[in-house]
Amino acid sequence: MGTFKAIVIEKTEAGQKVQQRDFDESDLMEGDVTVRVAYSTLNYKDGLALTGKAPVVRRFPMIPGVDLSGTVEHSSHPDFKAGDSVILNGWGLGETHLGAYAEKVRVRGEWLLHLPKGLSLLQAMAIGTAGYTAMLSLIAMERHGLRCHKGPAIVTGAAGGVGSVAVTLLARAGWHVIASTGRMHEAEYLKHLGAAEIMDRSELTGPARPLGKERWCTGVDTVGSHTLANVLSMTTYGGAITACGLAGGMDLPTSVAPFILRGVSLLGIDSVMTPRASRFEAWSRLARDLNLALLETMTNVITLDQVMDAGRAIVEGKVRGRTVVAIG
Ligand code: NDP
Repeated sequence: MGTFKAIVIEKTEAGQKVQQRDFDESDLMEGDVTVRVAYSTLNYKDGLALTGKAPVVRRFPMIPGVDLSGTVEHSSHPDFKAGDSVILNGWGLGETHLGAYAEKVRVRGEWLLHLPKGLSLLQAMAIGTAGYTAMLSLIAMERHGLRCHKGPAIVTGAAGGVGSVAVTLLARAGWHVIASTGRMHEAEYLKHLGAAEIMDRSELTGPARPLGKERWCTGVDTVGSHTLANVLSMTTYGGAITACGLAGGMDLPTSVAPFILRGVSLLGIDSVMTPRASRFEAWSRLARDLNLALLETMTNVITLDQVMDAGRAIVEGKVRGRTVVAIG
């Protein structure tokens, strides 16, 4: 067994130390499939892990990186053989299990999916956890019976990773998309992705009234806190908002008014432990429905040695769209 290049987070007296170094293959964790990583991505959660801003990492040393695409090197799992192209996101990768900012991972076969037909390894990670979460949100809305003729959809944190893909997917599905952003200078970018209206984030950041003017029937909220409370208070009768993020805070200072007076629903979205069947559905829909030309325009590719700076930038809300980390 040899070594491979990885970003490693170690716990120190002062907090944590993050460095790129050689990692011993014999120190990989248990699993029945070894994958040579081609690409990973930068998600908000990776930024939290790299900066130590929130306790995302639950074992040390840890290799961060919550998602990957790559090629199977060895497998004793019946569904995968050497040479297969695979993707993985969640299941504790980069949190409790050594993650994807590395040339190799060893994982449980049941966590892997075959690369969806029609996507390259690079495109799959341009989508990554963020895009897959946006699709889980769209599917949740549809299950709730919401369709584009019922009214507009709002996307908060629209210029971020989940937000950018959500705007694109919703617009393609026919929705009138209201993109809420703190970066009004990204208005043209958001319109290019399909947003019909741009809203300054400040309209949603103050304390929410129990009920506001009804403005949208659904939405993808990546921000939480006062933003989600305001979004709920302005949702039309019988509508539903999906909540996946906490970029603005983990609290939710709302009242029960939208739920009990307008029948509004709050739909929780978790990408990490989503069962396999729902993952298949989301990735198949992404391969079928996402405009890959638009995906490319929202994607920036960096290398492993740029990951630390990018991690700081994403927690400061300075990263636009999707960031792929090229590894292999
Ligand atoms: P990004 O950083 O790419 O996007 C977050 C966006 O939120 C920013 O671009 C910014 O958009 C906005 N924002 C940032 N800070 C604030 C703030 N203080 N107040 C209001 N808005 C803010 O992250 P991702 O797209 O990767 O993730 C978005 C959120 O979704 C994160 O909280 C992440 O943890 C969560 N997430 C959850 C998943 C799940 O399984 N539930 C899976 C994936 C992500 P703008 O400048 O346009 O306002």
